[in-house]
Amino acid sequence: MTKQQDLQTAASSFQSFLEDLHSKYKSLRDGSVANYIPELAKVNPDLFSICIATVNGDIYKVGDYNQLFTIQSISKVFVYGLALEDHGRDYLLTKVGVEPTGDAFNAIILDEKSKRPYNPMVNAGAIATTSLIKGSSATERLNRMLDMFQRYTGHNMFVDISVFTSERITGHRNRAMAHLMLNFGMIDQHLDESLDLYFQQCSVMVNCYDLAVMAATLANKGINPFTKKTAVDSRYIKDILSVMYTCGMYNFAGEWAYKVGIPAKSGVSGGIIAVVPNLMGIGVFSPLLDFRSNSVRGVKVCEELSQQFGLHLFDCSHNKLNFCS
Ligand code: GLN
Repeated sequence: MTKQQDLQTAASSFQSFLEDLHSKYKSLRDGSVANYIPELAKVNPDLFSICIATVNGDIYKVGDYNQLFTIQSISKVFVYGLALEDHGRDYLLTKVGVEPTGDAFNAIILDEKSKRPYNPMVNAGAIATTSLIKGSSATERLNRMLDMFQRYTGHNMFVDISVFTSERITGHRNRAMAHLMLNFGMIDQHLDESLDLYFQQCSVMVNCYDLAVMAATLANKGINPFTKKTAVDSRYIKDILSVMYTCGMYNFAGEWAYKVGIPAKSGVSGGIIAVVPNLMGIGVFSPLLDFRSNSVRGVKVCEELSQQFGLHLFDCSHNKLNFCS
């Protein structure tokens, strides 16, 4: 067999593996969909997709990968990257820490001493991060954010207005966090505008295919493997992946790091992205959530992928998948 044929065989057995994985977990009905706003509560709980994009520009997809949903907290990863580009690492560290909290994502807490939110992957830290996005008007800030998302996905991005409106009307905890941070001078007076931008970033529409491509862009030093365009300055990849690794899966982040061992981020609409540096980006979508608000099937799929292919960053006993490098 030629090398080309070898690669094709490996690729098709990987696709079959993903199809089997999808059928295995399709019957898992544990968990419940987010219900804090009607738009999320009415989602079909059976939706389920797995996509993997490699840094070489190959994509593997199974299930409902065209289904659109709001990105929710997964947006925090990418907005953090934009804020790093806007202000640099040192300034950002004065405004948002990099410590995991061990608390729920929407806990109303700040670091006792520094008054910073703990990290950019929980709501308080994300609101502070979003408030730092540069632009001369609210419209310009939103457009810069949408352009940034577009660099990761390779196509135009839009906000779901009804989700945005619901988030905005019901987001009292987020508003409380913003006021607490305003009290301590951690965010500025334009609090309502920053909150609107935060609710808009949560309401950006993506599908599972997009998630995989966005994750693959992070795996590929910030360059979208399909468009070949730079989405984020490569010097910030290690900052982004570090906080994803330690803080991305809410108060499950430690167990995730231990078991799955790759940087990841989840959102309440049921998405998870996971990044295997220099190899691939994983996107999973399934709206049934566990009590920590991580997708039940999403966690299972990532655990199994990691075990099967030795993706844990500290696993040296395994040869990583050879057909994508
Ligand atoms: N819009 C949600 C919020 O701000 C996002 C939370 C999430 O995905 N964890 O509460």
